[in-house]
Amino acid sequence: MLVQGKQSTPHFKLKALENKPSSEWVRYENAHEAIISKHDFDLVQRIRGIDTRTSPKEKTVYLFSGMLICGCCGGRMTRKINRYKGKEYVYYFCPTGKKHGCSNGVMVKESDLTECVQTAVKGHIDNIASLDLLLSSISHERINRELAREYAGHIKSCEKQLEKTESYKSKLYENLVNGMLTKEEFLSYKRKYNADIESMQAAINGWNEKLTDVLENRSERNRWINHFMKFSQMEEIDRKAVLQLIRSIRILSKDELQIEFNYQDEYFKAQRLAEQMKQAQSAERKAS
Ligand SMILES: [Zn+2]
Repeated sequence: MLVQGKQSTPHFKLKALENKPSSEWVRYENAHEAIISKHDFDLVQRIRGIDTRTSPKEKTVYLFSGMLICGCCGGRMTRKINRYKGKEYVYYFCPTGKKHGCSNGVMVKESDLTECVQTAVKGHIDNIASLDLLLSSISHERINRELAREYAGHIKSCEKQLEKTESYKSKLYENLVNGMLTKEEFLSYKRKYNADIESMQAAINGWNEKLTDVLENRSERNRWINHFMKFSQMEEIDRKAVLQLIRSIRILSKDELQIEFNYQDEYFKAQRLAEQMKQAQSAERKAS
């Protein structure tokens, strides 16, 4: 965070600087390139939170501590050990119970869960790898440039349209005064122009977002993709991988779970970009 205006000159001729109260400082979030990204910072904070919250007394932190959410009531699940004929079986269950609003809590075996999550994580890493490959394909730079030009063109024409509508709107009152329009006509045109202006502004925002997606530099993408690739050779999932890669695991039923991965937004963004590039590529092929 960049903070400016800690001091000010009351008059340009007065050289002495006054210290201003902190409430008057001007703050700019993300003004400097952060030493570590905000996302990484949040991740570290969250991991520290999970580990301290889940083991106040116990020394061991289990593989899924703090990660499992009951799909029925949204509560945190608890680990327990059942002994049967001298063997130990580890389970996770929802401690909420029917009385307190969990009508259909599920009990899952830790070994099943581990296997399932391990497969899902490997699958996700594979997806990211092929997404990365696609996005780094040879014509990437050129397609990006062309897409950027196309989006910038859309923005420009929307802006022209917007300007035109605004000038029509500004002449409305004049036309009402000089009797060219009745009051009803004036109001109805005004409503229409206002709606047009609003939808054009929304369109411009949409194109701008797409443009940002395309221009987003590659190093940024590398950073979160590498975060996953560090685990691509992983044989068995461990606590470190769970914390680094997964945000939460929601247990929906005995054989159905929903994993929210870290960097989920970045992942969806990359998917969208890949989709846009594929479309641009096929349009280009048709054109030539
Ligand atoms: Zn529950």
